Amino acid sequence: MTAPVMERIPAERWYRTQRLADDVTLIDEPWIRAFYRCNIWHVRGREHDLLVDSGMGVVSLRRHVPLVSEKSCTAVASHTHFDHIGCHHEFGDCRVHPAEAAILAAPTRANTLAEHYVSDEIFDGLPPLPYASATYGVRGTAQFRPIVDGDVLDLGDRQFTVIHTPGHSPGGIALFEAATGILFSGDIVYDGPLVDDVSGPDLADYVASMKRLLALPVTVVHGGHFPSYGAERHRAIIRDWLARRDR
Ligand SMILES: [Zn+2]
Ligand SMILES: [Zn+2]
Repeated sequence: MTAPVMERIPAERWYRTQRLADDVTLIDEPWIRAFYRCNIWHVRGREHDLLVDSGMGVVSLRRHVPLVSEKSCTAVASHTHFDHIGCHHEFGDCRVHPAEAAILAAPTRANTLAEHYVSDEIFDGLPPLPYASATYGVRGTAQFRPIVDGDVLDLGDRQFTVIHTPGHSPGGIALFEAATGILFSGDIVYDGPLVDDVSGPDLADYVASMKRLLALPVTVVHGGHFPSYGAERHRAIIRDWLARRDR
């Protein structure tokens, strides 16, 4: 018996966009199974737009999601795992924490974790040819600027403050809009199984990041994976995590 051949999805059907409240749009890749499927966040600003993460990069985001090219757009990397930076090379204005800048510049299958996670099993439908899981990799981003804790990304009418959140990865960052309480958390916390199998200094970093996020007056959290949630759920997820990991 041979396994059935998985369908190839045409590029124009690869992405899905859902407009949420407050000029925030969720772009995702529905043919990737939930645990591996990155949330790509687009925020419309008066002067500039903001993109938080860019998916696996198996189909051009700029060609197939016109929204991201409507205005000058700053593409931030919440961190540099393969599922979050695949299309950053398509943007002229990219930002990354210095601790992961080398990975954004020269990603490999190892340093982006693609080698560990990517196989045909993570899909319900395969990306268009010439995609192949065995040779998949992320393209390097030539131009980017560093962002560090406390920096503010100003869209003209909206301001997002950078919070360095090491733990899931050394250069993880979250973005917080104080005026609305919107938090883009990346992979440090979301409403699903967290990749938090860390110990030693990484665990200490993770705990410190979680305590910091717990103290924020959030109203809604848009995470790196899984659906968004509100303040009460935010506190419950973090308190539960701290009860298990902060010993
Ligand atoms: Zn990650
Ligand atoms: Zn991720």
